[in-house]
Amino acid sequence: MRGTPLLIVFEGIDFSGKRTQAELLAEYLKSKGYSISLYSFPDYTTTTGKILEEYLTMKRNLDSRIVAMLYAINRLEKLKEIEKDIEENKIIIFDRYIYSNMAYQMANGLDLEWLRMLDIYMPRPDLVIFLKISPEEALKRKGECDRYEKLEFLRKVERIYEKMANGEIKTNVKWYIVDGSKSIGEIHKKVVEIVEKFL
Ligand code: ADP
Repeated sequence: MRGTPLLIVFEGIDFSGKRTQAELLAEYLKSKGYSISLYSFPDYTTTTGKILEEYLTMKRNLDSRIVAMLYAINRLEKLKEIEKDIEENKIIIFDRYIYSNMAYQMANGLDLEWLRMLDIYMPRPDLVIFLKISPEEALKRKGECDRYEKLEFLRKVERIYEKMANGEIKTNVKWYIVDGSKSIGEIHKKVVEIVEKFL
């Protein structure tokens, strides 16, 4: 059992490979004997998750401020569980976290400081792994399209992620940029190299 918890976040635009890498990392760490919790946000199983799913699949229209709040609530719905994992010194992996709200909702024109406020009760992670990929390349991987998966919009989102990763937008957490256009195996190897520094 670890002596301290470790919170690892994967961020990046749609189809950048977050879920793939989060799952591979979880498997790798489990095989090394670590106790892991993996959270994928938004969690579509919760009350807010169901509304967000309807929004994303265009079945429902909502003001972007309401959407930002719903995303924040969606994370808060898991907070007790996350706090329990922290008490148990687990390694916690997040497939999207508070930085997704900042990137996507700033791209929708919302205020950074207000977005920050919505998530102040969420624990601060130890590191963010940003899977950097051009929207053109990411969209080649897509299956079904949702509301956010438009080239122009994802370009804006990607630029905001880059600003967070290079410190132009302050996030108070260490960002690691990984080239998301590489093969799944190559990216996983890089991710492991990064995470091992924290073990
Ligand atoms: P995200 O969670 O960021 O939306 P996913 O991990 O679900 O991305 O990956 C989106 C799609 O792209 C999936 O079909 C996945 O198998 C594929 N994929 C993931 N990583 C890569 C990669 N490095 N190269 C090519 N395809 C990938």
